[in-house]
Amino acid sequence: MVAPITDGERAALRDQLLCERRVMARQLAGLERSFEDLVEACELQPPDDEHDPDATTAYDRAQVTSLTTAARARLEGVERALAAVGEHDFGSCHGCGQSIGVARLQVLPGVRNCVACAAAGRTGPESPGPEG
Ligand SMILES: [Zn+2]
Repeated sequence: MVAPITDGERAALRDQLLCERRVMARQLAGLERSFEDLVEACELQPPDDEHDPDATTAYDRAQVTSLTTAARARLEGVERALAAVGEHDFGSCHGCGQSIGVARLQVLPGVRNCVACAAAGRTGPESPGPEG
């Protein structure tokens, strides 16, 4: 059985989330700048039939896009956790009502289910299912 979250842990988690939100926002801004740089560089590049600069650019763009998507998802989780951290049931599993555990909340901000429920695919009414 996982211990319920204490007030001290809740406060520490909130501080961690606020810090992470700042870091993620900065990272996201950097990634968006990188994408704009790639687009700009591509527009400035003269056509070259021998090499295929577009392939490299497409790869770079795909990489930046996937990093951006991951960073956005993480930021959304952090925002969700920040919105929920003050609620009385924060840290309780939406599937079974048991404590999610502070360690899991630290690693996966915004998570709504305990390990057992997540593994069993049990989600609460407020949680999006596997299809969205
Ligand atoms: Zn559960």
